[in-house]
Order: sequence, then C-alpha cells, then structure tokens
Amino acid sequence: DSDLSNDTQATQTNGKMTDYASLVDRTRTVFLSGKTRSLEWRKKQLKQALLMLEECEQEIISALATDLHKCKFETVTTEIKFTEGEVIELLRHLKEWSADEKPSKAIVNILDKVEIKKEPYGVVLVIGPWNYPFQLCAVPLIGAIAAGNCVILKPSELSSATSAVLAKIIPKYLDQECIHVVLGGVSETTELLKQRFDYIFYTGSTTVGKIIRNAANKFLTPVTLELGGKSPVYIDNTADLEISVKRVLWGKCINGGQTCVAPDYILCTEEIQNKFIEKAKQILKEWYADNPKESPDFTRIINENHYQRLVKYLNNGKVAIGGVCDASERYISPTILIDVKPTDPVMQDEIFGPILPFININNAYEAINFINSRESPLVLYIFSKDRKVQDLLISQTRSGSIGVNETLMQYCGEKKPLSLYIFCTDEKTISLFLKNTSSGNACVNDIMMNLAVDTLPFGGVGNSGIGAYHGKYTYDTFVHKKGCLIKDFNKLGEILGSCRYPPYSDKKLSF
Ligand code: NAD
Repeated sequence: DSDLSNDTQATQTNGKMTDYASLVDRTRTVFLSGKTRSLEWRKKQLKQALLMLEECEQEIISALATDLHKCKFETVTTEIKFTEGEVIELLRHLKEWSADEKPSKAIVNILDKVEIKKEPYGVVLVIGPWNYPFQLCAVPLIGAIAAGNCVILKPSELSSATSAVLAKIIPKYLDQECIHVVLGGVSETTELLKQRFDYIFYTGSTTVGKIIRNAANKFLTPVTLELGGKSPVYIDNTADLEISVKRVLWGKCINGGQTCVAPDYILCTEEIQNKFIEKAKQILKEWYADNPKESPDFTRIINENHYQRLVKYLNNGKVAIGGVCDASERYISPTILIDVKPTDPVMQDEIFGPILPFININNAYEAINFINSRESPLVLYIFSKDRKVQDLLISQTRSGSIGVNETLMQYCGEKKPLSLYIFCTDEKTISLFLKNTSSGNACVNDIMMNLAVDTLPFGGVGNSGIGAYHGKYTYDTFVHKKGCLIKDFNKLGEILGSCRYPPYSDKKLSF
C-alpha cells in the first residue's frame, strides 16, 4: 500500500518530473538488483495474477459496468478470461521460453558455446486505452513481468473505475517494489514520457502513437504500438447474407462498437443494403428485444465527449435503424445510416461507436476506388464467395490498374492494416491474398476471432502499429534476445582462429 500511496502522490502533484524520475529510479534500482530475473519470482507473480483474477472478478465486472455499462458476459470473456488464458499460457511455457536457445554453429566455433539468452529490458512502461481497459493493461503487464521486467502501468483516465481497480488490486497481489500503477491523463503521461524507460508498450490511437514514438526516440527506447483505424466492409450478392449480417453486427455491437478492429462502414449496392437492413432488424430484435436500452447486454459510450461526438453523426444521411439516444446514460442504440455522403463527418474519422453507415456502390471496382480515394483503412472486410469476382480483382492486380490485390497491396504498402478479413472459400484465392498482401493479421471468413487464438501473434504493421503480442509473442516482446559467443583459451581453438591475425596473405583467405 505504501507504494500505491507514493504513486498516487506522484499523480496528485500533477506529474512533476522529479516524482516520476524518482519512481523510475527506484524501480530501476530494484531491477538492477536482479530480483525480477529468477524464474521463481516470475512464476509467483503469475500465480498471484491468477489469484487476483479469481478473487477480484466481481470488482472488475462492477468497474467495467460503471465505465462502459459492459455486461458480465463481455467482461468475463473479453477482459478476464482473455487475460487468464494469457497468464496460464505464460505459466505453462515460462521455463521453456526462458531457456537459452542453442543455435547451430559453424566449424570455427566447434569448441565454443553459441547461445541466445533472453534478457529482460528493465523498466517497462505500459500505457493502456479505455476501450478494453482491463485486458489491454493486464496482458502486456503480465507479459512484461513474465519476461523478468519491472513495470510502470499507466491505465486510461477515461475508464476511471477500471483504472482505480487496477491501481488498488495490482499492489495488493503483485510485487510492490517492481510493479507500479500510475494514474493520470495527458499531462501526467507527458511528464512520465520524459523519463527514460527501457521499453514502452502503447495501445491507443495512431495520433498519440506518434507522440509516444517521438518520446521514445529521445532514448532510442524500443516500442510496441498497438494502434487503430477506419475499417470498411465490402459485401456482394454472393455472400451468405444472414451469416454476414450477424458477423458484421456482432463486430459493430460488441463493446458498443468501441473496438479497434470493429467494422466501420459498409460498401455495397442499394439492393444488398435493403436486404441487409431487413435482416439486421430481425437479428437485433433477437439479440436485444424491442429496446436495446433495456437489454443488459448492450454497452454504453465511454464519456460525454465521445457521446457528443457520436450523436452528431446521427444527422448524417438518414437513419434506417436505431438513432435513439439518451444523454443521461450515454446510450446510443445500434444504428444504421443510409444515404450517407462520403464527405459527411461520419465518413472521416474512425467511428468507434455503434453506428454503421452504408455507402452505395455498384460493383467491386467502385468499392476499390472508394477505399483508394481515402485514408488507408486498418482492416478490410470482404464478404463474397464469388470466384469470378475474386478472379477479376486478382487479374486487375496483374494488369497494374485498380484491383483488389493491387489495391490491397497499395494500401498495405503505405498504411498497412491490422487485420485482413477475407470471406471466401476458394483455397487458391485465399492463398493469393495471404501471399500478396501485407497486413498485421489475416482472418478468413470471420471477424476478430483471430485475436482469440493465443498461438497467433496479434499486432499491426505500418500505420496500424509496430510489434505484436499474445501467447509466446507476448513473452518475446519483452525480452531482448542476446546473442552470446562463449569461448575459452583452448589451444586448438586459438590455432583454428589464428588466421585472422596479421600479417595477412592470400593463403589465409582460403580458410
Ligand atoms: P488514446 O491514444 O487517446 O489514449 C490511450 C492512452 O494514451 C491513454 O492512457 C491516454 O491517457 C494516453 N494519452 C492520450 N493522449 C495522450 C498524449 N497527448 N500524450 C501522451 N499520452 C496520451 O486512445 P484511446 O482513445 O484510449 O483508444 C482508442 C484508440 O485505440 C482507437 O483508435 C483504437 O482503434 C485503438 N486501439 C487499438 C488496439 C490494438 O490492439 N491495436 C486496441 C484497442 C484500441
């Protein structure tokens, strides 16, 4: 608790650099003592983390309910169980992943030891966002600890109830000398970033990601940046509409649409739009009955600013479904907008809320042109099983004009997506997409479910981020792989290596 009050003090003094400087100094001193390096210490912290998840489950559920009106099911699955799965995986493999690797060696090193040692970076700064405020702080925190680092965690000020729970329970269960929670907003984070960290793991917007990278550059601190964007969905008339509507709506409604990989808007013909809307009405009713506001399963908007930002979007185009809001609860119903113009505000920035605009196009070319004419998206969702459409798009790529592969390669080259979603059952097409495009991740015939596979790395590329984590990749993120050559003074070894010494000769070159 004493550490917690120290940290709270640091925050309350409005982030004076000296407070953060002394916090980082203290933490680095503990790191240098070697305390965090032992397997026993790391295992103990992971077991304590499991205990924390078990004993504090209700507290976490309540905090998420306060911050986002998030229901128990979503909190348990996307925040608590997700984190628990990561901790269990780390515990299960910690010894194996921490062990020195023994790579193959050349003949000249036959007498030597060649090893890769996993070296923790030191003091890691983890900065979390508000949309999955527990999981997106806890998973990198646990990963950094498993790798033997000390951690300073800065959760988001917007999800204040969850951040307060993190600040309360972390010092209660985890080592108070090595792990600290610092609360605060932009000014505190700005001060914190003036300190020298050994690694920074940031999740949040691309704009702030650049600020973080700039701050890290001052000390050449390595970073992981898990960022966001505006992800379109393309649907054609070959897609299984019922499944497509369910999957798109699920991606848009889970967490109230406040998910980095949420589908942002739909590109399709007016005919598909009308069918989609009819199906959507039916499915939303099945999920949330007549009034989603009364449903315990529908999340609210994080704060007043975001609520006001989103409400303004409801004036764009025409409301086809929903459009109901209540400022007192920061409630916005699942909403579909039609007759939206590309120049409308809702089509500019990442929506990050339960509003789904439709833009009508007549074919895949128009969709491609639309996507190409704008800021590159984070994820592209394609709902189509028409082989001809796929072939057409692919052949266009080869012709060098606009086509899906070309388009994807073009936007992937400049601002690469976090995930590529392909809805198609043709193996050849899938393979072509996977081989010829660049994206942080790819998911075929579903949305977001790649995140749940803990043996897959999750992270962006280009504008959608730097680095990846989950499972072994979480562990790998937080260790420097130190290449070690260990020799002795063996005479034979000296003879084998002696040709490196002058005087040089052509004969020596033949060795
Ligand atoms: P944000 O970038 O505004 O805030 C994230 C963190 O940065 C917070 O802790 C905040 O205090 C801090 N911060 C904000 N402004 C800062 C500044 N000027 N200087 C220093 N620190 C600052 O992001 P957010 O609104 O919390 O999250 C939403 C964004 O995050 C979306 O764009 C979403 O797509 C993205 N996101 C990405 C992932 C992923 O895994 N790739 C996951 C969740 C969210």
